[in-house]
Amino acid sequence: MRCPYCSSDDTQVKDSRPAEDNTVIRRRRVCGDCGGRFTTFERVQLRDLIVIKKSGRRAPFDRDKLARSVQTALRKRPVEPERIERMITGIVRQLESSGDSDVASEAIGHLVVEGLRGLDDVAYVRFASVYRNFREAKDFEELLDELSGEEEAEAGAGKPTKEKGDREQ
Ligand SMILES: [Zn+2]
Repeated sequence: MRCPYCSSDDTQVKDSRPAEDNTVIRRRRVCGDCGGRFTTFERVQLRDLIVIKKSGRRAPFDRDKLARSVQTALRKRPVEPERIERMITGIVRQLESSGDSDVASEAIGHLVVEGLRGLDDVAYVRFASVYRNFREAKDFEELLDELSGEEEAEAGAGKPTKEKGDREQ
């Protein structure tokens, strides 16, 4: 595994242990060249999923993005991380076993709404209101984009040109 800091291939596993009800192996690694420490997770992936966005664009499904969206909805809510992880894993398993490797971002949103409904009322309402296109805090507009893996959001098209060079002599 290449070091994310210095790109060295000389990294070692320092510690390896199961997590999340034995569905994950968590490995702590250290880089022999720069001393950088990082953690990797090994998870079962039953199949590769492709998310179809509203715009029709396709992107590989990203579990971490899904997790971040869910975390945003659950911000400051008293829900144990284990339960959250279990819900996310449950959603991923449902997607993976749906028979089709193409999934609409809306279908993912629907599963998240259903999952949150059982987990926390506030988070459920937060997420559902965005999912159903009500106006909400800016966070949640971004949240849906994140969920569908939108990366083209390049706000500020016209960058002001910086002219730092001193021309006067
Ligand atoms: Zn390194």
